[in-house]
Amino acid sequence: MILGIDIGGTRIKAGLVGEDGSLLKSAAVPTPPALPAFARALCGLVSECLDGVSVKAVGIGCKGIVNPSNTTVDVLPGTLHYLEGRSLAELIQPALGGEIPVFADNDARVALAGEVAWGAARGRANVVMVTLGTGVGGAVLSEGRILRGAAGVAGHIGHVIVDPRGPLCICGSRGCLETYFSARAIEFAAREGVDRGCESALTEKFATRSGELSCSDVFRAASQGDGMARMIVDEAIFSLAAALSGVLHLLDPEIVIVGGQISEAGDALLLPLAEEIHRRTRCLLNRLVPLVPPQVLDRSGIVGAAAITYHPQK
Ligand SMILES: [Zn+2]
Repeated sequence: MILGIDIGGTRIKAGLVGEDGSLLKSAAVPTPPALPAFARALCGLVSECLDGVSVKAVGIGCKGIVNPSNTTVDVLPGTLHYLEGRSLAELIQPALGGEIPVFADNDARVALAGEVAWGAARGRANVVMVTLGTGVGGAVLSEGRILRGAAGVAGHIGHVIVDPRGPLCICGSRGCLETYFSARAIEFAAREGVDRGCESALTEKFATRSGELSCSDVFRAASQGDGMARMIVDEAIFSLAAALSGVLHLLDPEIVIVGGQISEAGDALLLPLAEEIHRRTRCLLNRLVPLVPPQVLDRSGIVGAAAITYHPQK
């Protein structure tokens, strides 16, 4: 039995995970706004989950840049900034009551670890995983190791540059993939079209409330043949294909796992994406690299967090 913990901006989740990756018990609390309350909430959650059960290890997934060698959160902008410089293992120690090994890593690598242990990457040595959501996350399994890099930054596929003179990104660079393909970017483009009064079903529906328009509305309209939505989706997929083609040439993976909320668009996303990637990579790669969905369907992040205890790689 392993204790998995997911630390997010809105909720902290924890649960007991069996050796087969099954989530046996879980609980969650809202993420407190300051460190002392966070430490209390985290320990309370851990105690509630353990409740006398002994676990062989604890795995923690957390946003930001986490140093896996000492579980310290190095960089974490936003509401959880108070965790910067803190050791997650030290924070939960009062609730563990014994010498239990604690591992931590960022949420993207945690998701890949889950796929390696119990999902689509099982038995494979070279896999790229992308998580398409508000931003674009990524993680890489290369020659059987989950890459972390010199400072724990490896795998940030969302900041691969697709246009050197493109829009300013939250990372400080320009033209990153995230500024072209992400829920944030797709919604921004669609809202701009609606606000300008472009001819579209989205303009008719959201004319007075473009702020409520979501990425899934754009994909739905595109699949129904809406011209503006189609153009936005096609352009976004074109940029994603370009970035992934570069990644494929760099890492030569067996498969690419495509997860995250936007991946729920299914074939509307995956078919044109695969076609454009193949066009750009067939010469060197000489094969179709399968784009597959994740198989660990635990959305809480708890199962993946438990899986990093199998891939400590300190
Ligand atoms: Zn960036």
